[in-house]
Amino acid sequence: MPRNVYGPDHEAFRSSVREFVERTLKPRAEQMLEVKSVDRDIWKEAGKQGLFGLDIPEEFGGAGADDYRFNAVAAEEIAGFNFAVSSCFGIHSDVCPPYIVDLGTQEQKERWLPGMANGDLICAIAMTEPSGGSDLAALKTTAVRDGDGWVLNGSKTFITNGYQADLVIVAARTDPAKGAKGITLFMVEAGMEGFSRGRKLDKVGQEEADTSELFFEDVRVPDANRLGEEGLGFISMMQRLPQERVGAAVANTAHAFQIFRETVAYTKERKAFGQPVGSFQHNKFKMAELQTKLEVTQAYVDDCIAAHAEQKLTAVDAAKAKWFSAQVQNDVLDECVQLYGGYGFMNEYRVARAWRDARVSKIWAGSNEIMKELIGRDLGL
Ligand SMILES: Cc1cc2nc3c(=O)[nH]c(=O)nc-3n(C[C@H](O)[C@H](O)[C@H](O)COP(=O)(O)OP(=O)(O)OC[C@H]3O[C@@H](n4cnc5c(N)ncnc54)[C@H](O)[C@@H]3O)c2cc1C
Repeated sequence: MPRNVYGPDHEAFRSSVREFVERTLKPRAEQMLEVKSVDRDIWKEAGKQGLFGLDIPEEFGGAGADDYRFNAVAAEEIAGFNFAVSSCFGIHSDVCPPYIVDLGTQEQKERWLPGMANGDLICAIAMTEPSGGSDLAALKTTAVRDGDGWVLNGSKTFITNGYQADLVIVAARTDPAKGAKGITLFMVEAGMEGFSRGRKLDKVGQEEADTSELFFEDVRVPDANRLGEEGLGFISMMQRLPQERVGAAVANTAHAFQIFRETVAYTKERKAFGQPVGSFQHNKFKMAELQTKLEVTQAYVDDCIAAHAEQKLTAVDAAKAKWFSAQVQNDVLDECVQLYGGYGFMNEYRVARAWRDARVSKIWAGSNEIMKELIGRDLGL
């Protein structure tokens, strides 16, 4: 099916992202795996390429594109290259900037946005804690007022870009009596006394993504680093989760589609019993099903992209796109591994790593169960 969501400008941007992937990312793929992160020079190169400033107004060094379809094009191309890199870039460029653009003071925007746009400052967002991620309103990290600032104590875990981040948007409890209404956002900067990070976490997949624990021990954060109003942190996160979730859906679908295309090509070459393995009816039908599943998913995700570009995407529709695309991605990649046979289980084969990388898409940014909870509530259940 032809896709209708993009126009010539988006496709021109796609060509430039593709060229960046070929020139800068692909030659470094093995090295990223070895160092378990994306080196800073790559971040800077991506910044120069205009990948990070799409949501950032021009006066603060961004492109001010104000059209989510450009974000989606970037997410598709990076996810087609590698799902881990797409998660690192996505958090930095798609998830974090709207918080500062929408909630930041003029001084905060001037201080942080230009560096985020050009890749000098790497950003992370820290909501999840060791005691839980799904029940965000129950978070335990505290921020207590002290003179003209705040003192933060607590810890976060599973934070994408956490190891390298120069800036972390941290959700902390400022009023223990007020539940969700007692949460405030703070910008914690690298080098603040008492702010430390654990090791890069040893994950089942996505080795290239640096994912870390963060610790806050009496970290003094000036009030100038408070993001948005006191007590509005939870609602601010809820308002911005649809963009994170549609971004996840875009990446899920693009990643699965790319690996599926590679699998189809493989099954045309690989022979068993004197014929290509793709030509056995079972495999042919299986791939016909996968192609159909992917196209149907893509159609829904495209509608979400178009709706979000017009600021009309609801949190519930974003939740549908996120869980369904995550499920489809996992189903498709599992079949792709099968179609590769034993090679599908070898780490040196991209399909094996893609399969491992994809597993977390049913867990992060709100698990499939939490997405269904939101959809169920919308049904009045
Ligand atoms: C690689 C990776 C990167 C991540 N990056 C970030 C990041 O950058 N920033 C950040 O803040 N977090 C990040 N996370 C955290 C992620 O968002 C959480 O892991 C996720 O929200 C689930 O929280 P949890 O792990 O505490 O699971 P729990 O909340 O403990 O849930 C455990 C299980 O119970 C289920 N469950 C919970 N509540 C319900 C319910 N009401 N109904 C039905 N089932 C339920 C969950 O679906 C899950 O299956 C990342 C996680 C990973 C693995």
